[in-house]
Amino acid sequence: MPEVNELESAFECTMCGNCCLGSGGIIMSPSDQKRLADHLGMLVEEMLEGYSLDLNGKPCVRTKEDGYCVFYLEGKGCGVHPGRPDICRAWPFFRGNLIDESSWEMVQDYCPGINPKAGHAEFVRQGKQYLRDNNLLRGDKNMDPNALIVDVD
Ligand code: SF4
Ligand code: SF4
Repeated sequence: MPEVNELESAFECTMCGNCCLGSGGIIMSPSDQKRLADHLGMLVEEMLEGYSLDLNGKPCVRTKEDGYCVFYLEGKGCGVHPGRPDICRAWPFFRGNLIDESSWEMVQDYCPGINPKAGHAEFVRQGKQYLRDNNLLRGDKNMDPNALIVDVD
């Protein structure tokens, strides 16, 4: 059991790019679609036509042949950073990693930015604060990604 240091940062992104690899995970809510379209200087319909796929009735960001998100720039990271969807803003503070310590432990292999020394309780505390501060808490099970539906007391 690592020693817990309350001043330890629970997460610092290393820009490894792992979370931009893989398909089907980046579902865009209507507000995501508008923000991304505005960032790209397009109409929402044009953005969806060019950069999304339908996933069970919900639009999600397309991937390239190499498996990375269509907006991922090798060596540079996200090419639409100010306009990126909420899912990308919230990671790794997803519901599963907040409510389940074993998920938090397992996901450290995938996301090297998570600091195991901070401990899960501190990850939860900092994560909820981050989600609150960045207006990333969602509650509509029909519209919002489950990963963003987090109880915050
Ligand atoms: S997987 Fe984690 S450390 Fe790597 S780019 Fe994504 S958030 Fe950053
Ligand atoms: S939108 Fe940006 S942060 Fe999100 S998966 Fe694509 S490249 Fe990564």
